[in-house]
Amino acid sequence: MKYWRRPLDLDKVCLPRAEVRIIEERCKGCNYCVTYCPRNVLVTGEKFNSKGYYPPHVKNQDECASCGLCQMICPEFAIYHIVQRPEVAEQSV
Ligand code: SF4
Ligand code: SF4
Repeated sequence: MKYWRRPLDLDKVCLPRAEVRIIEERCKGCNYCVTYCPRNVLVTGEKFNSKGYYPPHVKNQDECASCGLCQMICPEFAIYHIVQRPEVAEQSV
């Protein structure tokens, strides 16, 4: 992620990492999670569910910042994230 400002403690603070899970059968394909994820972790999937909607697919799990926005914004409670230990320091600038 590119910062337009660089935090002074960027190399010291570890960010938590999360694993994103999707309950595909609940999804109604609105794409809110895909559109508003700040790190472009999600893309629209290529397989449809039993309702005929295309649930999102996790494209780049390592980029997830564990912000929880996808979980908060999903109208169907179809996506959630599991926060893991903050093992990896945010290095990218
Ligand atoms: S938790 Fe945040 S960064 Fe991770 S997939 Fe959801 S919206 Fe994207
Ligand atoms: S926000 Fe929820 S319902 Fe909408 S595409 Fe994402 S997982 Fe599916």
